[in-house]
Amino acid sequence: MAPFAPPPIAPAELAIFSPLLVAVIGACVGSFLNVVAWRLPREESLLLPGSHCPRCGTPLAWFENLPVVAWLALRGRCRHCHQPVAVRYLLVELLCAGLWVVVLLGHPTSMGSLAISLPLLLAGWLLVSWLLPMVLIDLESLWLPEPLCRYGLVLGLAVTALLGLGQGAAAGRALLLSHLIAAALGLLGFEALSALAQKALGRPALGLGDAKLVALMGAWLGPIGLGLAVALAVLAGAVVGGIGRLSGRLQPHQPFAFGPFLALGTVAVWVMGEPFWIALAGYASGS
Ligand SMILES: [Zn+2]
Repeated sequence: MAPFAPPPIAPAELAIFSPLLVAVIGACVGSFLNVVAWRLPREESLLLPGSHCPRCGTPLAWFENLPVVAWLALRGRCRHCHQPVAVRYLLVELLCAGLWVVVLLGHPTSMGSLAISLPLLLAGWLLVSWLLPMVLIDLESLWLPEPLCRYGLVLGLAVTALLGLGQGAAAGRALLLSHLIAAALGLLGFEALSALAQKALGRPALGLGDAKLVALMGAWLGPIGLGLAVALAVLAGAVVGGIGRLSGRLQPHQPFAFGPFLALGTVAVWVMGEPFWIALAGYASGS
């Protein structure tokens, strides 16, 4: 290596993860998350029986399970009954592939500046893969499954504790404590907000699941990250809701899923890191 070569952006241990390889793994995970989002609300087992056509029930061969490729090769139809297979399956696989690559290229700061890189990368992939089925289920049924919120929160705290360990006892304890506080404040704050809004409007304004998702976000992002993610979610929700109402696609008072916006805010904060959003907010308010 040349003497004054700039240090590589990714530590050497991450060099084995090329974006293409990560996209392929992400698409495979997305294929499984499609199954999760379909079966979980229907209380079916996630593993048994194996994948089958939802229309004719024929079990799928291994090559029919290949993400993206199988859908394209079969032109979005079942090989047995020739009924269409929803384009949503393809889109979720592509989205998951994209999210995995975005996490690979991200600069997360939510777990402290000293968090080691490979576990941090694995944590990011776990986070986006956990949020994706929640978003799909919320979009489909305006419902955030309680177990996914609860175990996602526990996972967030476990990841925080593990990544904190690598930063020394004192720093690790402080990190875990701040994420615990963020989770509790998020849950209580959103439940209070929901109760207030219901009193003011005379109807439920926020889903109860939203408060639990915010608690999960606190466990993963800590207090500052949680504040930024909620602000981004409110902003994105207001823009999309406003466009929906103006264009007539959303009726007045028609509820729409807020979970996807919260998840979007979470991924944005995780990937770009808090300093980016704080600097952007300062720039926006200063100009
Ligand atoms: Zn079929």
